[in-house]
Amino acid sequence: MKIGHTTFPRLGVIAALVCSSTLVAAQTRISAPPNNYTPAQDVELGLKAASEARQQLPVMRDDAVTSYVEDVGHRLVAAIPPELRRSEFRYTFEVVNVREINAFALPGGPMFVNRGMIEAAQTEGEVAGVMAHELSHVVLRHGTAQASKATKYEIGQVAGAVIGSIIGGGWGQVISTGTQFGLGTAFLRFGREFEQQADLEGAQIMARAGYDPRDMANMFKTIEKQGGSGGPQWLSDHPNPGNRYDYINKEAQSLRVDNPIRDSRGFDQVRAHLHQLPAAPTTEQATRDARNGRTRGTTGSTRPENVPNGRVQPPSNSYKRYDLGRSIRIAVPSNWRQLQDNDSVTFAPDGAYGQYRGQSVFTHGIELGIARNESHDLQSATDELIDSLARSNPNIGRPAGYDRIAIGNRRGLRTEMANTSEINGQRETIAIYTTQMQDGNLLYTIGVAPRDQYGQYRDVFERIVSSLQLRD
Ligand SMILES: [Zn+2]
Repeated sequence: MKIGHTTFPRLGVIAALVCSSTLVAAQTRISAPPNNYTPAQDVELGLKAASEARQQLPVMRDDAVTSYVEDVGHRLVAAIPPELRRSEFRYTFEVVNVREINAFALPGGPMFVNRGMIEAAQTEGEVAGVMAHELSHVVLRHGTAQASKATKYEIGQVAGAVIGSIIGGGWGQVISTGTQFGLGTAFLRFGREFEQQADLEGAQIMARAGYDPRDMANMFKTIEKQGGSGGPQWLSDHPNPGNRYDYINKEAQSLRVDNPIRDSRGFDQVRAHLHQLPAAPTTEQATRDARNGRTRGTTGSTRPENVPNGRVQPPSNSYKRYDLGRSIRIAVPSNWRQLQDNDSVTFAPDGAYGQYRGQSVFTHGIELGIARNESHDLQSATDELIDSLARSNPNIGRPAGYDRIAIGNRRGLRTEMANTSEINGQRETIAIYTTQMQDGNLLYTIGVAPRDQYGQYRDVFERIVSSLQLRD
């Protein structure tokens, strides 16, 4: 079936919807996959991850750009089929000032579109195509459906884990050798089945909103072409299930679009506007700038790594509780920040963390993680952890021995080691606490403090470890 070529100017979202009635015969029926989370949890997790994203990524505060993407987004939202609407969900649309071709949507509705995606698109329909695909992951609740299937060890606040998978690298490199959670990508990286669902649902939403669904297939081709080495992040998060273009185009044939949106003035204007701005930085530059405390949203050259300056407030006596996934609860001094990557979570005060020779480092604080444990023996698993620590920290001493302690009502081990900081040459003490999860994997907590302050920090580490609650 051919798509008409009426060229009415766009009259805004409402008018466009009124005149774009769509016949939805013979379209593929999509139903949301099984999900252990409630829609309210989607919203909660998405909001947390979104606020983290806003801290780490340069969200544009440019009304011309933002309102354009919001217009497209709300037009698509208005076309969500009634059976998939969720009154709890709040759809928001923001543009990130980075050049990679990427976009991501979080459970419950927050969506972020990279400036590079808008710049790479040929038409508004192509922008709408990516957004409709992302929106479909949200309405089908794929993020939490995926997390429902994921490993039960959801260490690291799930929100933070999402960010780790967006910006990659970073925290945990210090000791991450041999650790794995397989969680970091739980919300954003989907399998073939979910991808095909999002493609087809997205095509249907596009058609209902008055867009030509074939533009979605065109945009995916553009993304593939501009892949470069390793391909764009979008494609690794949204792998081609195979025959993507064919089945989208086939679906498009079953979707009649009356009065499709052909007016491109809004799109042309926003592109011209973006063209006048300084070029967007890469995500890596932008996130490094954000960590270094530059004003968000600015562009330009990057600064040298920020080495921790050691000017650190003493640990607060009030403690803040964190749920790390659904299995682990912990309390840490309320003036420590949570720093996250795919493999571990670090809590540290300002001035105590940063980057050194491309690695994340900290001078005061704790890191928590789970290491794979093949032997299922607590002591040998702890030995392996210490070996991997020694490989990345050449100055570290060997532990004198292990104390047997209880952690979360389980058998645990504690030991201390001396180290000379590679960052500032200072002597520091490293305290290690380990126990086992139900499947035998090793839960570890590593405390780090300068040796001359260790007396104070040891009490803090003990209090943190005694706060651990395990519900795996
Ligand atoms: Zn996808």
